[in-house]
Amino acid sequence: MTDLHSDCGSCAGLCCVELPFAKSADFAVDKPAGKPCVNLTGDYRCRIHDRLRESGYQGCVTFECFGAGQRVTQERLDVALFPLIRQLHELLWYLEEASRYGHAADLHKETETLAASPIIDPARISELRGRIGARLGEISAQVRGRAKEMRHDLAGAKLRGQDLRNVSLRGRLLIGADLRGADLRKADLLGADLRGADVRGADLRGALFLTRPQVAAARGDQGTQIDLDRPAHWR
Ligand code: SF4
Repeated sequence: MTDLHSDCGSCAGLCCVELPFAKSADFAVDKPAGKPCVNLTGDYRCRIHDRLRESGYQGCVTFECFGAGQRVTQERLDVALFPLIRQLHELLWYLEEASRYGHAADLHKETETLAASPIIDPARISELRGRIGARLGEISAQVRGRAKEMRHDLAGAKLRGQDLRNVSLRGRLLIGADLRGADLRKADLLGADLRGADVRGADLRGALFLTRPQVAAARGDQGTQIDLDRPAHWR
């Protein structure tokens, strides 16, 4: 089984070298792909790891390689494959969750095979992503039963204490939404943008297709109920 949990200690800092970033609210400086970040040390550690947010590197806090970094490093693969394998590992993350509720083994196997290929065509990832998205949608509808769906974005929305159980928030913008104390159990959060969303005291247990980057981008606390690990900045 592919390891989908990042292990920075087994990686040569690939996300800090191979990926580009642009000066913005997420990054303090511009950096082109292939150039090591100025904060990367010679032994592939981040010298500002404990103060990324305060230093203007929020984008690093919310980045997740889903184990692609250590795989490329440990298997001595072409570093150019890193962004592609990262995308495939993210799809495997979704498929592993989907497999708990429905049939996704065929797509899981296909994705694993592509991730292990010496040459990966980005067009194949796009095509596969479309089929996986459709399957996740089917499984989500089965799990949620009543197929409630929010058809509009909810950036900045006041949803404090709302009953959002089983609601599909798939792909919705929830930037800065007030979700304090909201009940999001079995809500479909696939691709929902939770940057700055306030989930203090919210119940996210069993939320579908929720990932670590989404959680890291939100504002939670000890009262937030969640199946994933609680980000350090929530404590
Ligand atoms: S700030 Fe740290 S974690 Fe972010 S890219 Fe630079 S070295 Fe990596």
